[in-house]
Amino acid sequence: MEPVFKYIDDNADRFIKRLGTAVAIPSVSASVKLRPEVRRMVEWTKAEMDKLNIQTELLELGDQVHPSSEVLKLPPVIYGQLGNDPKKKTLLAYGHVDVQPATKSDGWDTDPFVLTEIDGKLYGRGTSDDKGPVLGWLNAVEAYQNQKIDLPLNLKFVFEAMEESDSNGLANLLMSKKDSFLKDIDFICISDNNWLSKNRPCLTYGLRGVCHFFVEVECSSKDLHSGVFGGSVHEAMSDLIFLMNSLVDLNGRIQIPGIYDSVKSITSEENSLYGSIDFDLEDYRKDIGCEKLMHSSKDEILKHRWRHPSLSLHGIEGAFSEPGAKTVIPRKVTGKFSIRIVPNQTPDEVTKLAKSYLENCHKTRGSPNKLNVTGSGGPAWLSDFNHENYNAAKKACQKVYDVEPDMTREGGSIPVTLTLEQATNKNVLLLPMGACDDGAHSQNEKINISNFIKGTKLFAAYLDELGKL
Ligand SMILES: [Zn+2]
Repeated sequence: MEPVFKYIDDNADRFIKRLGTAVAIPSVSASVKLRPEVRRMVEWTKAEMDKLNIQTELLELGDQVHPSSEVLKLPPVIYGQLGNDPKKKTLLAYGHVDVQPATKSDGWDTDPFVLTEIDGKLYGRGTSDDKGPVLGWLNAVEAYQNQKIDLPLNLKFVFEAMEESDSNGLANLLMSKKDSFLKDIDFICISDNNWLSKNRPCLTYGLRGVCHFFVEVECSSKDLHSGVFGGSVHEAMSDLIFLMNSLVDLNGRIQIPGIYDSVKSITSEENSLYGSIDFDLEDYRKDIGCEKLMHSSKDEILKHRWRHPSLSLHGIEGAFSEPGAKTVIPRKVTGKFSIRIVPNQTPDEVTKLAKSYLENCHKTRGSPNKLNVTGSGGPAWLSDFNHENYNAAKKACQKVYDVEPDMTREGGSIPVTLTLEQATNKNVLLLPMGACDDGAHSQNEKINISNFIKGTKLFAAYLDELGKL
């Protein structure tokens, strides 16, 4: 590995410059105006892959009806393939080249689309999420090729450009390639999340799913003046607040009967992963800026973020929220909440339980108002962290960082993880490159130079370890 590592160090400045070129393309997938830039980013990435003799193909996804009701062409997905040796195993790597919106006026200290180096940190939209990791793969391949070291694996790539906008169209495309492009894959690696800490790398083996709910209560055919009609009608808002307040108790315990029945119980092996994790409870509390956390130990906080379900209330549509006194009784209000779900809860089961619980509460309360509860969602993901895919990544972490990686899960969802697992039936590993304070989706997104360069080495070493299997 030494010649590959040396090449990566010697070319660090060039790799950073190339990241700068990528950051300068404002590929904001949510923006109608910037859609051509998203396509330009895809074409630029393809050209960089072509330089490495990766066989690439752009797969069109067709049209999209944008939330603004404009019909837009979706940017294509890049498929790449390097090597086709039947004696070698094949790794599929996924990444995305679109980014979240960013403007200087959001509160950035630098121009979000000009890569700016300050104190060993590279600021710019997409540096960490996810242009840095995508280029990390290409840097690693380049290092092998330049040092004339045979790549230990066949490589396949799926790089998309709509990830920040729900990966519009991707799941269907991937499922349709089950028996062609996605056949003959042995391992899958996604680098699109972050370390739990600032200093220690991690491997991520689980994600929670999410179910979204809408609780609609209607009390009249028009909004009413509280001075004229107040005291004479059962108000929709009172019913809704009652229902919303029946969902979760002070300690975060979800009140829906049966909701915990299918939650997988913790094994002693899983339990043992938490002790060594690099996570400071007090830092976490201060970062959030809250007085007191819901649980008092590191293990409990991490478990409640990663492996227990949680319920959050988000808002009420139809409520009056502008400043000043209000005297209106809204005719219809819709409460919004979500439940982060975990193995082995299913979205169907959770939706059904929540719906019947709320209908029951409403009935017991005895209000004559119309209630309509709807919900839908996606499942959680849990990988086998003893799989050889994980062991290879662990060895790579030891080689590059000289530490055992943290074994983490995340509370959020990355839907493509499940899609790729289902389309291939192969083990998926999440191998992040950036640190916990990179600010993906936030102002002043950055990646540390050390994370970018060592992360490139990590990918190279991971390929090496996978090749030994
Ligand atoms: Zn991302």
